[in-house]
Amino acid sequence: MKSDSEHFPLRPAWTEIDLGKLRRNLQLIRGDLPPAVRLMAIVKDEAYGHGALDVARVAQEEGAWGFGLSTLEEAVHLREGGITAPLLLLGERQASELDWCVAHDLTVCVNEPHAVRQLAKLAADFGKRVPVHVKINTGMSRYGVRWDEALPLLEQIAAEKALRLEGVMSHFSQSDETDKTFANLQFARFSEVLGALEQRGIPVNLRHACNSGGYLDLPHAHLDMVRVGILLYGVFPSTVCRQLPGLEPVMSVKAKIAAIQKLKPGEVVGYGMRYTARTERRIAILPIGYGDGFPRVRNEGCALIHGQRAPLIGGIAMDALMVDITDIPEARMWDEAVLMGRQGRDEITVRDLANLKKSVTYDVLTNWRLRLRRKSVNGHQPPAPKLETAAR
Ligand SMILES: *Cc1c(COP(=O)(O)O)cnc(C)c1O
Repeated sequence: MKSDSEHFPLRPAWTEIDLGKLRRNLQLIRGDLPPAVRLMAIVKDEAYGHGALDVARVAQEEGAWGFGLSTLEEAVHLREGGITAPLLLLGERQASELDWCVAHDLTVCVNEPHAVRQLAKLAADFGKRVPVHVKINTGMSRYGVRWDEALPLLEQIAAEKALRLEGVMSHFSQSDETDKTFANLQFARFSEVLGALEQRGIPVNLRHACNSGGYLDLPHAHLDMVRVGILLYGVFPSTVCRQLPGLEPVMSVKAKIAAIQKLKPGEVVGYGMRYTARTERRIAILPIGYGDGFPRVRNEGCALIHGQRAPLIGGIAMDALMVDITDIPEARMWDEAVLMGRQGRDEITVRDLANLKKSVTYDVLTNWRLRLRRKSVNGHQPPAPKLETAAR
């Protein structure tokens, strides 16, 4: 009995990833985008918790040009899994990572002169002409070279024979809110840089600025490529951005009823005795807790059981939570409960949980812990990994 075999029994609590819905979302987005605009699928942080390799395989088949990631390890993992498409590492690389990037054909952002020289030398050593992207800081003030100081760096890269300036990019601090003033200012700054490059005859294939919010709401900023993350997973970046009909959430979180208790009036539930039954109650225990990423709530939120809302009672524990099933008499041991997602006609959305957690949907998606095993459904047999890429 090998613990990594596919027959290993799943815990009665898991995340379910519907790859069929992911595929459909990709098709809807691809169909909505002008054909000339490329799609970069952002699969950082294990594809927002959905499993980067599974997501990348589907997205590659559905016409994604390449993938955006944030750590070297994630990118090498995709290469070793047989993903041959371009992999762009967002953010900044340490010197010690660069030879790995060149060896595995990972595309990096270089944002300062020293890194340019270092990468050029490595590329020459490997006998490769290495594509690079430059991130222009247009006001987000995170990574990248300032828009009003970018030109010398771009010229330096263009002059390096072992490097190819493939992309110039920027990133919006606020693209999904109604007020687009700052996004438009950022885009104007980015356009200045692009104009200057054109004037100097420095060619760039891929100019890109939009995340999901920008893709939906700033069509004038699509340029050559958009970098779409959360929208792929069927979650809108905000409630006020353009809605793309038909998109559906890809991830659900489920658990099975692992105990049923009866409470008499006056009896209490859970740590801290935060709930007292006023009348006779029937409650179900679900083997999932804040240690799995569920918000640490008390007497708030609910689970869906037999398509009905069972309110959470008492304080949630690390490994368990309790729900009131008095009004769901048909509920039995090991029946399935939905903590996030749809059951019957009702749905607990990622946003509902974000509100419970007083946070954002991105945080909810990426914070389900890995001890909740991922179960992928509606995928198909992935094409056999291409061994020649795994070897490079
Ligand atoms: C995460 C990220 C994205 C994707 O953002 P979404 O809002 O999830 O679409 C795009 N670009 C960069 C640089 C990112 O870090």
